[in-house]
Amino acid sequence: MPSTPEQHLNFIANRSCAADGGETLPVIDPSDGEVFGSIARSRASDIDRAVRAARSAFDGDWGRVSAADRSRLLMRLAGLIDANREELAQLESRDTGKPITQGRADAAALSRYFEYYAGAADKLHGQTIPYQAGYTVFTVRQAHGVTGHIIPWNYPLQIFGRSVAAALATGNACVVKPAEDACLSVIRVARLAAEAGLPEGALNVVTGLGAEAGQALAEHPGVDHVSFTGSADTGRRVAQAAAQHHCPVTLELGGKSPQIVFEDADLQAALPVLVNAIIQNAGQTCSAGSRVLIQRGIHDSVMQSLAERFAALRAGPAQADLDLGPLVSRRQLQRVWDYLSDAHTSELTFAAQGSVVDSAPAGGFYQAPVLLERVPCGNRLFQEEIFGPVLVATPFEDEAEAIALANATRYGLVAGVWTRDGARQFRLAHAIRAGQVFINNYGAGGGVELPFGGVGASGHGREKGFEALYGFTSLKTVAIRHG
Ligand code: NDP
Repeated sequence: MPSTPEQHLNFIANRSCAADGGETLPVIDPSDGEVFGSIARSRASDIDRAVRAARSAFDGDWGRVSAADRSRLLMRLAGLIDANREELAQLESRDTGKPITQGRADAAALSRYFEYYAGAADKLHGQTIPYQAGYTVFTVRQAHGVTGHIIPWNYPLQIFGRSVAAALATGNACVVKPAEDACLSVIRVARLAAEAGLPEGALNVVTGLGAEAGQALAEHPGVDHVSFTGSADTGRRVAQAAAQHHCPVTLELGGKSPQIVFEDADLQAALPVLVNAIIQNAGQTCSAGSRVLIQRGIHDSVMQSLAERFAALRAGPAQADLDLGPLVSRRQLQRVWDYLSDAHTSELTFAAQGSVVDSAPAGGFYQAPVLLERVPCGNRLFQEEIFGPVLVATPFEDEAEAIALANATRYGLVAGVWTRDGARQFRLAHAIRAGQVFINNYGAGGGVELPFGGVGASGHGREKGFEALYGFTSLKTVAIRHG
């Protein structure tokens, strides 16, 4: 007898509730393509209910909690996340298809976000400013009020943690719209937050389609700040919707991040990192190292080593915990296939391809990793975010050409540089257009402590690190004339 599909409801004002219209959407396991549950298909009325709950919390109990008590609450939540880490990891892994090792890393990162921002909550303060005689001027940092968080499907736990922990630490009340393809872990964390003692309405999660619930959140006049992570096109729509009521937005929109390998690089160190930076999460990472630029003198030998490594990579079900799992959805798999079909049409060289294990269920969304050689700068696969396990390699002559190629896309999120030349390390750190530059390492966004965000089509605003606290607050200047 088939098991009853799990029902995952919205979480508003510390209560689980169905969507107003009672509609649901299926939850699909990317490892086998089977439906194993349902989520609420929410619309504008559900978002409105959540925004009202958040407003009441901000104007009421939550707004009166001191910074020190916010810190204690968030630390308690970090402890509960730790205590439930394996459950969260299993949920994340099944829902997104990522290997369980990655699910565990994501759950650990989530607790670290809450721990970090719990520690920071009571350390954010303003300044005094010397002004005219007879005046005292100071600045205060104040929460925006109600913050909207639109979360993508690639790292639900981590992206929820990075924006919501910082927003709560600064005293905002949050409404979260996770992606319809992966939202189960986020709903679970909201319930843990209630258990930790967060007052009603401080954290609300509403699921549904982007064009319905997501759009309704971005355009809701009761929202005071929107944090969005996802594609550049949807980011533009979100910013336009928020602009209708002059609402500030933070946009984290992905990238086409280069890793530049010079002839003097430590290749032993570089090679495993070059591979991991594109196969982690099956390439569905905004900061994936999706282009590798290789200096001509070592091009052929580096390509050969990369090809050997790619040929050995294996994709399989999340629970098999191989190099990579399936992609998140059939839609995402089709997007990647479209790019690979373009690669064939434009006669790009497939230098190597990994494999999908025989035991992978036929209904799963698998794509073996692909290494493409000598991809020209003008090619679509060099320019666009594929968001799959596809690495494009391109040779360069000298430092000037490396910089030009690194900066030749509309994105600017992360870059990696591999060289032993100290002066060149500094020159490239300055010259590359990106929000983060890693020298002789690559962090795919780096640790919780490192400010993260992009320039150009990669977005604007910074999350992570202490810097995020500035984004989730506004600065007020107070001038007192006392004579
Ligand atoms: P989207 O940018 O469309 O989705 C990201 C989030 O925005 C999801 O929660 C989505 O909800 C929501 N959303 C969608 N439309 C709207 C809207 N009109 N208003 C408000 N919110 C909305 O990404 P896709 O899932 O369509 O993926 C497409 C491509 O985007 C990928 O191939 C990849 O290149 C890129 N991407 C980049 C990410 C990153 O981290 N930089 C993350 C995800 C995707 P829902 O999914 O429920 O529709």
